[in-house]
Amino acid sequence: MNSPSVAVVGAGLAGLACARRLQQAGIQPRVFESQRAPGGRMATRRYQAATFDHGAQYFTATGAGFRQVIEQASAAGIVGRWRPDWPGGEQERKDLWVGLPGMGALPRRLADGLDVEYGVRIVRIEHARRGWTLQDDRGAAHADFAAVVLALPAPVAAVLAAPHTPLAARAHAVRMAPCWAVMATYVEPLERLPDASFTGDAVLPWFARNGSKPGRDAPQAWVLHASAEWSRREFDSAPERIQRTLLERFAAQAGRSLPRPALVDSHRWRHARVENPLGEPCLYDRAAGIGFCGDWCLDARIEAAFQSGDALGAELAQARGREGSGKMRGSP
Ligand SMILES: Cc1cc2nc3c(=O)[nH]c(=O)nc-3n(C[C@H](O)[C@H](O)[C@H](O)COP(=O)(O)OP(=O)(O)OC[C@H]3O[C@@H](n4cnc5c(N)ncnc54)[C@H](O)[C@@H]3O)c2cc1C
Repeated sequence: MNSPSVAVVGAGLAGLACARRLQQAGIQPRVFESQRAPGGRMATRRYQAATFDHGAQYFTATGAGFRQVIEQASAAGIVGRWRPDWPGGEQERKDLWVGLPGMGALPRRLADGLDVEYGVRIVRIEHARRGWTLQDDRGAAHADFAAVVLALPAPVAAVLAAPHTPLAARAHAVRMAPCWAVMATYVEPLERLPDASFTGDAVLPWFARNGSKPGRDAPQAWVLHASAEWSRREFDSAPERIQRTLLERFAAQAGRSLPRPALVDSHRWRHARVENPLGEPCLYDRAAGIGFCGDWCLDARIEAAFQSGDALGAELAQARGREGSGKMRGSP
């Protein structure tokens, strides 16, 4: 194979968009993902009784590139429109998309046809004469990559890249807030509650009836998201305390006591949302052959993650074109 090999670390929307753009340019990337499925924060949690989108809730598609992807996915039944009963959310309601039957459907589709290794957590990257080597947490080495893309939350990318490029400092300066999520199902419908709400509450700023999204199995599955400030303060608290507090706040929103949930669980997102985005679509150190992409470059949104990955893929492909010989800077 003539084309230089690129390692993409992370199969969230940014990593997938980057890998797809490289593939379109004739470069065969290899993607490494620590989890057993793609999607990162665009995730679906499955229980016997219900499934929940416990990370990203919905997405919009305003730019031409992402809109095209979404229109194709819509035609294939991978995504659909969500039209929640959402008082005050009329503006947002117009163009809300969700994966079908869960948020994970879109990243699964984008990963189709890519060379992705799941369950591989990269813990160190090293540069030698023959190119980049990636060390995983089981002690295996993945060697001879001409370039490496870190499609990871900024704090994780900053640590991996620190020995190799001054750009790591830019990633290091980006703050990402945590988010505690609680998932609950009820036997009876919870009357007089909207399907979704930005509540304005300092602890529980968002709740949604996951079951109001198209194609979901459990109508009374609810997702509650805690605020960044509260999640930071309670980061190390026991899940039981988190669940109790958020369910109490949920009841306060309902204005009455609510029945005991049939199922309740929680998840702690360590790097949920960027607080001070970089303000550039991506970062690429051409001399070192190392790039960064992710939502944190632009905004705390799925579309921003896609745009960032796509931009880095285009830049890498262009760099290869400029060098003409089919080799990228740093390639063996
Ligand atoms: C609670 C919550 C609610 C949100 N709500 C919305 C919303 O309603 N609408 C919206 O547009 N956006 C929302 N977002 C933001 C949205 O989910 C993100 O902007 C987007 O999914 C980020 O994609 P990404 O590819 O940049 O990062 P990620 O999705 O974080 O992808 C990074 C990937 O890298 C993998 N990884 C990490 N470390 C390693 C390693 N060492 N080796 C290998 N792989 C690794 C991870 O497993 C992950 O798959 C929400 C996020 C959260 C957490």
